[in-house]
Amino acid sequence: MTEQSNSGSNSPASVKKTPAPPARLGSKHFLGIEGLNPLEINSLIDRGDMFADLIQQTTSLQPPLSDVLRGRTVLNLFFENSTRTRVSFELAAKNLGASVLNINVAGSSVKKGETLLDTATTLNAMHPHILVVRHNCAGAVQLLSQHVDAAVINAGDGRHEHPTQALLDALTIKRRIGRVEGLKIAICGDIANSRVARSNIHLLSTLGAEIRLVCPATLLPMDIDAMGVEIHTSLEEGIEGVDIVMMLRLQTERMEGTETPSQREYFNLFGLDRNKLQRAAPDALIMHPGPMNRGVEIDSATADDVERSLIRTQVEIGVAARMACLEALATEGAP
Ligand code: ASP
Repeated sequence: MTEQSNSGSNSPASVKKTPAPPARLGSKHFLGIEGLNPLEINSLIDRGDMFADLIQQTTSLQPPLSDVLRGRTVLNLFFENSTRTRVSFELAAKNLGASVLNINVAGSSVKKGETLLDTATTLNAMHPHILVVRHNCAGAVQLLSQHVDAAVINAGDGRHEHPTQALLDALTIKRRIGRVEGLKIAICGDIANSRVARSNIHLLSTLGAEIRLVCPATLLPMDIDAMGVEIHTSLEEGIEGVDIVMMLRLQTERMEGTETPSQREYFNLFGLDRNKLQRAAPDALIMHPGPMNRGVEIDSATADDVERSLIRTQVEIGVAARMACLEALATEGAP
């Protein structure tokens, strides 16, 4: 299955690529993968690939790598905790020459509704150019986008979407294997509560991958039938012969009222270890959006397997993928 023998995030040096142009999106905001067409998705991936090469070639760590956001302000507005996504957006924006402000409202009493709209009014008065927003309620980022002048990027809204995670996942796969089309990909774990799963189902199936969902019946989303994917309630059966095993965290913060097994029982049935991984294709790769709960959905030996695990590469590639998104919005008409 592995077409490119390079490991980690490198593209083969021997392959000369034509630099991809800035990605084109048909809208001012980037709120989700659902509704994007393959051209838009591929333009983001190709541009992200170019940025990933550029980051690797840069000997100095001093941004910027481009001037496209010079004179513009990117505001990171996180109503939910985040480490990798927030830092990744900050680095991406600085790499493009932007001024970046981080507002961490997680844990405050800010809630969806009037207060969110009040926040929008306040922010609008500060005239940011791009707002990167994470919120614990599905739809809140879209609502906010309707009340600000800035272009808005969804950095994760409740169980709904996490579009830049799906983009970086596809870019990671493409840089390692050379394609997404035709791959068998199992997305495993807490699907019901995962915006990463939802965005990846849209994106990877749009690019022609065969998607299987693997989870306990209690962690299947309500609208599963509309997703047109294969469903398995046994990890061993679900990952049989797959090229990629994408593990998800048990998102207990969104689980009120859901029947879940104990963590030990969950690991026995749905946790990935070397033994269960033998059912996948011989050189199958492992992914996880992070943060990982070691010993719950994946064991350490598997997560840290340098030959098979792409988990660290996903974090590295995140910056490049987000540069492509920020640049696309700057080009698309952020004020
Ligand atoms: N970091 C991802 C998210 O924000 C996955 C997770 O939290 O489990 O959705």
